Amino acid sequence: MNDKSPGKQQLDRLKSVLDSLVDTVITMDESGRILDVNSAVEQQLGYTPESLIGRNVKVLMPEPYASEHDGYLERYLRTGRRHIIGIGRQVKARRIDGSLIHVSLAVSESRVDGQRVFAGVLRDITVLVKREAELRRQRDELAIQAKVNRVIEQATDPETLLDGVLLALISLAELEVQSKAGLFLLDAVENQGAQGFQRPLRSGRQGLRLAKTYGEFTREFLEREAWIPLGACLCGRAAQSGEVVVSNNCFDDPRHEHQFKDMTAHGHYIIPLKSAGEVIGVIFLYTDPAPAWDERRLALFEALGVQIGVALDRLWTLEELHQSRAQLYRLATQDSLTGLANRRSILERLNSERALAERTGDSIAIILLDLDRFKRVNDTHGHAVGDDVLVETARRLMLGVRPYDVVGRLGGEEFLIVLPHATLAQAETVAQRIRGLIKHEPMRCQSGVLLSITASLGVTEARQRDLQILPDSGLIEEADCALYRAKAEGRDRVVCYHGSSQ
Ligand code: GH3
Ligand code: MG
Ligand code: MG
Repeated sequence: MNDKSPGKQQLDRLKSVLDSLVDTVITMDESGRILDVNSAVEQQLGYTPESLIGRNVKVLMPEPYASEHDGYLERYLRTGRRHIIGIGRQVKARRIDGSLIHVSLAVSESRVDGQRVFAGVLRDITVLVKREAELRRQRDELAIQAKVNRVIEQATDPETLLDGVLLALISLAELEVQSKAGLFLLDAVENQGAQGFQRPLRSGRQGLRLAKTYGEFTREFLEREAWIPLGACLCGRAAQSGEVVVSNNCFDDPRHEHQFKDMTAHGHYIIPLKSAGEVIGVIFLYTDPAPAWDERRLALFEALGVQIGVALDRLWTLEELHQSRAQLYRLATQDSLTGLANRRSILERLNSERALAERTGDSIAIILLDLDRFKRVNDTHGHAVGDDVLVETARRLMLGVRPYDVVGRLGGEEFLIVLPHATLAQAETVAQRIRGLIKHEPMRCQSGVLLSITASLGVTEARQRDLQILPDSGLIEEADCALYRAKAEGRDRVVCYHGSSQ
């Protein structure tokens, strides 16, 4: 026979239901005293239900909420202004061992025998909160990677790459860094004082050259840090070990060897830049003291360092390729002694300007110039002095022509000037100016030799109609003919071609 009253049975049932819940259910009176709590509290917060009954609920709260709780409760009872009651929110609860867990707390209010009773349901959401934080971090990391990737994709030279990367890193809210950063490049000791972002020398003893800074740095810093040895301070260590360095505080970290006047407390992330497994530089970021870090953040920095390093190396290689292409082009088109267009290049230019004139109906003129009695210069003063005369002649030719005229060395001491759009009269004026420039001042050559040089010049012009019937070599032959006459008539003069019968 059941000796329990229906009321007692109901209570037992309710208690056993409450005790089977995974959430903690606490009831308290209006002073915050715990009236009842189910057995889930033992699992969640480490207390037995009996040990909590009668105590103030503050014992389950971390500071500052514990101290503020009486005030909240009193204000609620006085004004009815709700803070949590009937609203529910995510808070932290304090376990018996002092550790904190994330809980969602829902509080409701009821009246029992005229007394206000508050019931709170605590659900442990630590796993959920952790997963959310993890997701947020993954999202932040992806955002960082994406921003750096975008800079890398868009950079066309080492300077824009490094500029962009530094700017991106210091403006990433996700990284919690200060707007202050810089970059060292690994360079040869003998290259100290070098500037810029070209590929540094990899020969001999290496050190770190400060190549870029962002933010406020003192003159003292910039001067003293312009060059630091491998292994010195934080950056030198990161460069030597190839590992990311995190420093909590410049004043406590014995590795932060370089101390400066007026330095304020700061921490660092130091990221080595690597390509093909070798360190090629170091990025240093300033943070507030004790920056956040863990294995994942280190791995992210390491990956960024490789990404940036490989991109930098690639841009260096591209730059060198461009330079050697440009050099090859120069070698193929330039006269090595005078720097003017060489024979092949000036004849090609003549052909293309001639074709253009034929199409547009413009006139075109050329001047053929030959130094007078040049053999004598060589015979009397030697070949080296002769070369000086050729170089000086080239310089004066460039002074005498219009910006769109082209000057080339046909060979020996013979030069060709192509004058697009020029009439015979205009070309003759240019030729006279050049003759004057060559003759006017003696040329100063090696060993102080001063030589008075003159030149003979043949000028010719062609219009559309002539060009259509003139063979490729026709213009040069006409100019040569005029030049021959200039020589025959006594040299140091300009002769214009007026037809083969002249
Ligand atoms: P003319 O007034 O009739 O032109 O007399 P010229 O002595 O200048 O004539 P010629 O064409 O006989 O002599 C050209 C000389 O130019 C022959 C050669 O020794 C010299 N020469 C050719 N190429 C070079 C060069 O690259 N450097 C030097 N120094 N001399 C050169
Ligand atoms: Mg000559
Ligand atoms: Mg000659």
